[in-house]
Amino acid sequence: MKSSDGHIEAMFYETLDDKKVRCNLCPQLCTLGPGQNGICRGRMNKDGKLVALTYAETISLSNDPVEKKPLYHFYPGKYLLSMGPNACNLKCQHCQNWEVSQTKVRTSRISPEQAVEFAQSTRNCVGLSFTYTEPLMWYEYVLETAKIARSKGVKITLVTNGFINPTPAEKLLPLVDAINLDIKSMDDDFYRKVCGAKLQPVLDFAKQAKPMTMLEITNLLIPGHNDRSDQVQMLVDWVHDNLGPNTPLHFSRYFPRYKMTSPATPIETLLKARKMATEKLKFVYVGNVMNDNLHNTYCPNCGELLVERSGYSVRIAKLKSEKCGNCGEQIPIVTS
Ligand code: SF4
Repeated sequence: MKSSDGHIEAMFYETLDDKKVRCNLCPQLCTLGPGQNGICRGRMNKDGKLVALTYAETISLSNDPVEKKPLYHFYPGKYLLSMGPNACNLKCQHCQNWEVSQTKVRTSRISPEQAVEFAQSTRNCVGLSFTYTEPLMWYEYVLETAKIARSKGVKITLVTNGFINPTPAEKLLPLVDAINLDIKSMDDDFYRKVCGAKLQPVLDFAKQAKPMTMLEITNLLIPGHNDRSDQVQMLVDWVHDNLGPNTPLHFSRYFPRYKMTSPATPIETLLKARKMATEKLKFVYVGNVMNDNLHNTYCPNCGELLVERSGYSVRIAKLKSEKCGNCGEQIPIVTS
């Protein structure tokens, strides 16, 4: 619903005394007086109503390979028209996209209908990706666009921090085809001190999303912060026990950015994490490194090369109708 000044009224909020509102979209639960912005900078109290400031305003529009998200088990080799809001509900000191997530930048308007039409008319594109910053802070726009996309056969994907409350998640998830979820650490202290958030809501979102959508997990390993063996093992165990051994896990290499000055992740740390994870999980990848073998998908049963990735160039090798072409093992990769 549009307010008198053209803004879209936000969903999931309650009115309090003195024209204050409380936003219930994410676990930050911001209480805002008139004129105040939420932590995410995407929602504002306008005279006692919460409005979605960033609705349909994108920081970028780009036809990205699915592998860039990264989504390795969702239409390998295809593209997603990618966009995102100038908003984020976390304050990660190491944010790799801080220029567009933590500062105000110019945006361009694209209606839900236009976004879906662009995706339909773009070569090799299977759908839309809400990404770059925090798409859940674009809730009303993502929901509206996803409804139109679903009716036209256009896929919807999210690259998200998963820091959202269960009720809004429940309404959106049935319209989402694939998610790459960032689990930043299994340490609540890390979430509180480094990201200004909490761990448990992210884990709850992962469990909520798993039965409803294709789910891949990314963990950015930061030296001295979340890269100890026991921390990696805790993540691997949690993914295995709660999401299942078929859930793809991407360990990603960190580089110093924004307020974090720790040196880049040593390759050895990533390889060690990968080795530990492959003891329990069937599909483990390493991102932000040049070694192509770490991006390929192999059959967990017979070791056959199924999908070969070199940079963003992708070759479907022995994957046939979502099965290993050598031994017939069922492989959870959507190709058509
Ligand atoms: S969505 Fe934004 S305004 Fe709402 S609670 Fe979260 S950070 Fe605050």
